[in-house]
Amino acid sequence: MLDRLKNLEAQSRRLDPGAEERAPMWEAARKYGETFLRALPEAPAFVLKDRPGAGLVDFPIPEAGRPFYGILNALSEHVDGVGANGASGRHLAFIPPSSLFAGALGDLLAAITNRYAAYFFAGPGAVRMENQVIAWLAREMGLPEGSSGNLASGGSMAHLVGICTAREAAGLKAADYAKACVYLSDQAHHCIVKALRVAGMGEAPVREIPTDADFRLRPEALEAAIQADLRAGLQPWLLVPTAGTTNTGAVDPLEACADLAARHGLWMHTDGAYGASFALTEPGKAALLGLERSDSLVLDPHKGLFTSLGLGAVLVRHLDPLRKAHAFRADYLPSPPEDLEELSPSETTLEFSKHARALRLWLPLQLHGVAAFRAALEEKLLLARYAYGRLQEMPGVDPGPAPQLSILAFRFLPPSGDADAFNQAVLDRLTAEGRVFLSGTRLNGAFYLRLAILAARTHKGEVDEALDLLQTEASKLA
Ligand SMILES: *Cc1c(COP(=O)(O)O)cnc(C)c1O
Repeated sequence: MLDRLKNLEAQSRRLDPGAEERAPMWEAARKYGETFLRALPEAPAFVLKDRPGAGLVDFPIPEAGRPFYGILNALSEHVDGVGANGASGRHLAFIPPSSLFAGALGDLLAAITNRYAAYFFAGPGAVRMENQVIAWLAREMGLPEGSSGNLASGGSMAHLVGICTAREAAGLKAADYAKACVYLSDQAHHCIVKALRVAGMGEAPVREIPTDADFRLRPEALEAAIQADLRAGLQPWLLVPTAGTTNTGAVDPLEACADLAARHGLWMHTDGAYGASFALTEPGKAALLGLERSDSLVLDPHKGLFTSLGLGAVLVRHLDPLRKAHAFRADYLPSPPEDLEELSPSETTLEFSKHARALRLWLPLQLHGVAAFRAALEEKLLLARYAYGRLQEMPGVDPGPAPQLSILAFRFLPPSGDADAFNQAVLDRLTAEGRVFLSGTRLNGAFYLRLAILAARTHKGEVDEALDLLQTEASKLA
């Protein structure tokens, strides 16, 4: 047995390279990252290939290891060399991601030191850090002191926490679900209904409230829907206004929503996954008036605060239902003291083994200061207005609705032929070329091109280039 142990130890120690072995790996990884970053200003925003990434098939997971440099080559070619570039300033599709360098360093350090961030006793510093970030976010959103929340992997997971909390607050049991009505606009993100289904509440009636010409939820239609449900003996439960829709960046009338929620006893859970971060700026605050009256809200730091993918926040005004929905005791855990100084994140989400996710935002905030974030966000708002002005001056373009935040939806109006097909063709040509990456959507049944300005590296030059390329491709096609 002792011989076998010795032999196994020698093998398992290979999982833990020593300082001399680490040195060239650090250097190769640093070089990989630095080469990627230096190439970014000219790198394509999208790489279209046949069977993208399929070369990984020829790079199977081996029984014995391979040299590090070969692995980095495979990463470069089959992963980082195909599809959308999630760090590019010319990524203007969907809701563009960013990758703050300081945030990436935060992730690296969090992974190396591996502090546990779910349970105060084990990871007091990591837990305090998460709570500090949540308290800061809540203050910026205008929520009262004492609000809490959770840092999740993204908006969809954060919404699940919010919905389970709202269910707890209303005391809903399974037998009530078919009567518990949910209200959202016809522009709402699909992840709300998905979260309802995952929460086991797929039977809850979901009312898609029509929107106005600017794609904002119409409060009088909402009121009518609530009244109709009350008359039918149903239980209006949850209102999910969107603070920045994915399609056009439209902000639902949050003040009117909060009034109606208060009048009818609804829980207002606001979807600010894309848009809520703009509350860090003065013009954004004005556009998001009423956000601070939410019972809970979701915002995605991996969108509007520019961290790498994997960070969504839910903020909750009422601690009691949040904890009731998620807290648990177990014999193998020490009991927390009654007068809990810090809330443990395991009491506010489904997750238990949780890494120090906050570090990817906390570190950039500490290093750059909040002012830099406010400036970047105001820049994106202003860039959208600038781009809208340019679109308005382009001949043969329907500039679409004026941007409420930083998303534009517009379309070319060709002199003849099918406009939808024409705009799709423009988009396909841009994607194949790959210099800029845009996406499309449907508004009132028609196909529109979208220019979403949110990536940290998107500045005036990138916006101008995208608009120039659009114009060039459209005139080539016409
Ligand atoms: C992105 C987005 C979501 C979903 O968030 P994920 O982080 O992608 O899970 C929900 N709502 C809106 C408005 C979004 O833009």
